[in-house]
This record gives sequence, structure tokens and C-alpha cells, in this order.
Amino acid sequence: MTEKRQFRAIKGTRDILPPESSLWNWFEQTAREVFESYNFREIRLPIFEDTELFARSIGVETDVVSKEMYTFEDRGSIHVGYPQTVDEVIRSNDAVKAAWELKRIPQTPENELRVNLINHACKSISDEGASALLRFVAELHALDLGDSVTLRPEATASVCRAYIEHNMHALPGDAKLYYVGPMFRRERPQKGRYRQFYQIGAEVLGQSDAPAIDAEVLEMLIAFFNRVGLTRTTLYLNSIGDKNCRPDYVALLQNELLNVADKLGPDSQRRIETNPLRVLDSKIPEEQPIIEKLPRISDHLCDACREHFAKLKEELNLRGIKYQENWRLVRGLDYYTRTTFEVTAEGLGSQNAVCGGGRYDGLVELLGGPPTKGIGFAIGSDRSILSIQETGSAPPPLVLSVFIAWMGPKAYPAAVSIARKLRAAGLAVELPPEEMKFKKSLGLADKLGARYALILGEDEAASNTFTLKRLSDAAQKTLTENELLEYLESERRGTRA
Ligand code: ATP
Ligand code: MG
Repeated sequence: MTEKRQFRAIKGTRDILPPESSLWNWFEQTAREVFESYNFREIRLPIFEDTELFARSIGVETDVVSKEMYTFEDRGSIHVGYPQTVDEVIRSNDAVKAAWELKRIPQTPENELRVNLINHACKSISDEGASALLRFVAELHALDLGDSVTLRPEATASVCRAYIEHNMHALPGDAKLYYVGPMFRRERPQKGRYRQFYQIGAEVLGQSDAPAIDAEVLEMLIAFFNRVGLTRTTLYLNSIGDKNCRPDYVALLQNELLNVADKLGPDSQRRIETNPLRVLDSKIPEEQPIIEKLPRISDHLCDACREHFAKLKEELNLRGIKYQENWRLVRGLDYYTRTTFEVTAEGLGSQNAVCGGGRYDGLVELLGGPPTKGIGFAIGSDRSILSIQETGSAPPPLVLSVFIAWMGPKAYPAAVSIARKLRAAGLAVELPPEEMKFKKSLGLADKLGARYALILGEDEAASNTFTLKRLSDAAQKTLTENELLEYLESERRGTRA
């Protein structure tokens, strides 16, 4: 006998059930409408990508890449085949190199030497060396390597990959793209933090880094938040410099941090080495007075970055967009340059960031594409919707317009027919699949929250009429089919049932 087992959604994932799912659809639909009014178009991306795409773009030292990614080996897509000749070994170069970098080949000095040999010395190799390499490849094959793939933790890297892959730089104007969908990060689940969560994001990729682009992206974001009633938000803004000024600032910061290292906690101490900017992110109370005294990037921007930031602020003022400057806003991912921003909302406790974004001018090039400027943001849908629910600005849920209370076999064909017509007219209709007693039928209509019960007994069927009962006040009238359709349609147009 098989054991009975109850399955549950995996920790950090959840089902979004009705009626909440309507709220989600409305939220995402509104984003599409607002973004399309700014001439952004949707891009649909794969849910998983080559692991290295994320490692390279997001940065191996970030939390996302170092501990939060869902990575697995896609067996059956073997990198290193059965090479018979040195030539074939050479052809599997990239695969071997990638496997080494992803630490999927045992990281011994001996293997490192072999990998380097494959990568550099193949062409002028001796017979002896060649046969040693072939033996090594046989060993690699025994490891049964597959492609390393990762469930996307974010989508900017994928958008850039697609931009390069489809030569979008050759298209007229900037590429203005938006996406909607799930992301995956292995984090500790809590309110507003899940392992499968949802983002709506937008990106502009092209040749220009005009501050007006940054401003329009922010205007679009705020327009969307206003449209969905997420109005009590704060936009934080910063500029983190570019490759000309940031390295000097980071070196200066690192130096200062070393001076105060003994007063910092272990996480911050580690970051002094791995990612000094991230120390500024610290929320640890004891570290706050120390961080306040650290040098600020705004005092160390190069002229071009300073001018870009000043112009951006002018552009925001022109659009009436309120913001707060926050010099500590550095963002977690490595690829940002210049403009960075974050939006927080109410009703969320400590996970209160509902959107993060910024400029990433070097990213496309880093991924092997042409020099390209880029800026974008990602909205966390889970938290935004939570905030909308908690601050009470959610729209009324979808309403069932008509429950068809049919009785008797003679009424049934008329019930099927009118249900189809009402649905075609855009109304939500419930047609009970089996005959119900009158009282039970109206009781269910009530419990389902139907606006109307359409009563259809043998009398009505015989006279080709319908009795429409409004459930809120029991008002009732008898109508012909045409009158009924006209009445419900005009009501739908007026009240959006
Ligand atoms: P946080 O600081 O809250 O971890 P983040 O900087 O990691 O956020 P981003 O990578 O900027 O987040 O993603 C943009 C938005 O996506 C966040 O502002 C947040 O609303 C949402 N988000 C990020 N991670 C999660 C998660 N695990 N669960 C739910 N929403 C998330
Ligand atoms: Mg995070």
C-alpha cells in the first residue's frame, strides 16, 4: 500500500488564489497599459539561463550570486563530448574553461594546469601532451558534466543577453522593453520575501545616456504607482559614479573602512574586502554613527557624473517628481553606474522596498555586446500588492454578474443559450450544471456574491421571457431576451460589473 502524503507548496513559494489573483491581473495589466503609453514593448524571456550570464553580470561577490541562486546541472547537454583528437579537445575549450570557472571540475592545482593547457597550449602540443590531454578529457567526461543553468534571480541580464543576441542595437531608436514574471532567489522566507517572487521591470538600451531618459523612466514608474493607488511612496535617488570616478572613491572608502574595521560587525568587515560599497547598506544600529562619517560619493563624482546627476534632478523637477537624495543607496548588484534609485512603500515593515533600479552603461559590453547605455528598474509585485492591500486602495474584486437559476428540463436549453449570449456580451455568468431546487439555487447565487439571479423556470421558457432579480434588494422584473441583454449590457458599461 502506498503511504498517503499531503503535498504542500515548497517553502518560500505560494499559490495566489482568487479573488487575490484578480488583483494581480489588474496590477500587471495596469503596468502594461502605463508602460505601453510610454512606448515600451513587452519582451518575454526564458525562466532559466546559462549560469554564467548571471555570475558575470550581477557579480560573483553579490549575495544573489554567491548564495541565492537556484542552479542545477542540465544533464544530457554535455559540454565535453568524446573527443578523439586534439582538435576536438581544442573545440571544447570554452566548455572546459566554463566548467572550471564554475568550480565543477575539482579545483586542484593539477587540474588547473590541465585546464590552462587546453586553453592556451593546444596548438603547439607534443604527442605526449596530447595523449595526456585526451586522458584528462576522458576523466572530465566521467564527471558527466552538463550545462549549468540557473533559474533567473532577476531579468536585466536576460534582457541584455537578448538585446545582443537579436542585434537590437541595429533597430531604430532606443530599445524600450518591459517584462512581467517570476524570479527566484533562495532567501529566508518572511513577510514580503519569497523564494519565488514576481517582478515587473522596464529597461531602455541604446546609444544615449541623456538624463531625460532616466527622468522619463522614473516618471513612468511613478505614473504606474499612482495609477494603482500606491501613492504613499518615497523615491530615493543617488549617483554612484562611473568607471572614471568610482574606483577612486571605492579605494578611499576602503581605506577609511580599514581604519574603523574593529568597530564594525563581521558582515561589514568581510565586505571591506569583497565589496566596500555594500557596507553603506548596513542596517546594524551600532554601525550607523560610523557610516555617517564615511566619505560620500557625491563629493567624489567626476565632472561628467556630477553634471549628469544635476541634469537628472532638473529633469525630475520639470516633471514634478519628488525624490529624496540618499548617498548610501548603492544597490546590491555590481553592474550599476551613475543613477541608482529605490522606492519604498508603507505597510510592509522592514521589507519595504517595492522597486529598485538604475543605470548600467557597461553591462551590454561586459556580456560581449556593442558599447551600449542602459537604465531600468524592477518592481516587486508581491510587496507592491501587499502594500496596496494594507493601505486599502485595492479596487473592488471581480463580480459575478449573473447566476442562472434554471428549473426543469424545458428551461435548460434556454438557460444554456442565454448563458452563452450573456458571456459573449462580456458578463461573468454562472450556469449550474445540474438542476437545483429554487431556494438552494438563490442561496448559492447569494453566497457567490452574484449581482443578479436570472430565474428561468418552465413558465418563462414557455413564454420566452426571463425574470431578473437583483440580489441586493430583491427587485425583480420580467424581460424578453432583447430587453435583458440590453439592460445588462448598459449596466455593465455604466458600473463595470
Ligand atoms: P531587498 O533589499 O529587499 O533584498 P533587493 O535589492 O535584493 O531587495 P532588487 O534586486 O532590487 O531587490 O529587486 C527589485 C525589487 O524586487 C525589490 O525592491 C523588491 O520589491 C523585490 N524583491 C527582491 N527580492 C525579493 C524577494 N525575495 N521576495 C519578494 N520580493 C523581492
Ligand atoms: Mg535582496
